[in-house]
Amino acid sequence: MFISHVAVGFGTKKLAPEVKLGTLLLASQWLDLIFPIFVLLGLEHVRPDPGNTAFTPYNFYDYPFSHSLLTTIGWAILIGGSYFLIRRRWKGTLVLACGVLSHWLLDFISHRPDMPIAPGLQIYVGLGLWNSIPATVIIETCLFTLGIALYLHTTSARDRTGHIALWSFVGLHVFLFIGNVLSRVPVEGTAMAIGGLTQWLIIPWAYWIDRHRQTQ
Ligand SMILES: [Zn+2]
Repeated sequence: MFISHVAVGFGTKKLAPEVKLGTLLLASQWLDLIFPIFVLLGLEHVRPDPGNTAFTPYNFYDYPFSHSLLTTIGWAILIGGSYFLIRRRWKGTLVLACGVLSHWLLDFISHRPDMPIAPGLQIYVGLGLWNSIPATVIIETCLFTLGIALYLHTTSARDRTGHIALWSFVGLHVFLFIGNVLSRVPVEGTAMAIGGLTQWLIIPWAYWIDRHRQTQ
């Protein structure tokens, strides 16, 4: 999925308001943040494949370290555990670990059966929501709206920047999602990975949003 991972980051602020939005998004987006790095290192692979599913023109044929179920559990322990070592708060730890796990679950729903169970194990799963563009758009839009609504219910703007930073972020993601829906022209795997690295920018952006908002 795409904006649904962002939705999880925003929505889980309700469950653990003490955790910064940037940290929540780091957890929910983690698999997609490390995937382009692994592609550029030659550890994982993706290739253009128009028609792979109705929604995506890419074949994610080799990504066992970022997106297998086993390594996702490991990433969840790493991110949740790191937070616990720094903050010593169980609730935030669990919410962050679940945020990481949610990424695998949402990708499992949307991908065709290309989601690995573990590195080296030739078993792949996926429910294939991406085979239907209308269903993908409806589910992603609903989840995104729910995530933002929960965040709005949990926080309020401290100042003007609290509005501008949030709504520019939301607007950009809506724009990118519409672009994703309308455009199906793939680029080479390396170019895709370089583009994918720009996702890291949303993390400082999310910390910026949170700094200008307060929990209700
Ligand atoms: Zn993913």
